[in-house]
Amino acid sequence: MATILEKAFSDDLLPFGAISGGYAREWAAYKQALQRVEAMFPDQFGGPGITPLSTMDEAAVALCLAAWRAGTAVGDAFARAEEALHSPPERVCDHCDGYGKVRRGEYKGQRCIACRGRGVVPAGETD
Ligand SMILES: [Zn+2]
Repeated sequence: MATILEKAFSDDLLPFGAISGGYAREWAAYKQALQRVEAMFPDQFGGPGITPLSTMDEAAVALCLAAWRAGTAVGDAFARAEEALHSPPERVCDHCDGYGKVRRGEYKGQRCIACRGRGVVPAGETD
């Protein structure tokens, strides 16, 4: 299952565009080195069809993409963990359970004095 970041990358939703935009220089250096190897042995590695060099190229590209996906998965996990560590700014009022009013007793129906009728209090506030 793709993470949110992996989906964003695959859909080209991020500012730097396509997946290869994150490693454009390294990609270009690799492709140019590949081209130089092909030029050294044009009969064995050049031309159409599957050659040992094209097989290696496919494996290298698959490795690159797998590493990229693993990196995005780790980044996504850290982002989710960081979000989970942020405490919410408010919590439900312990006195009225969010109703904002007294529910029982002689003050039934009156505004809750703990939350002033809001039903919530600041998260760090103690009773
Ligand atoms: Zn309350």
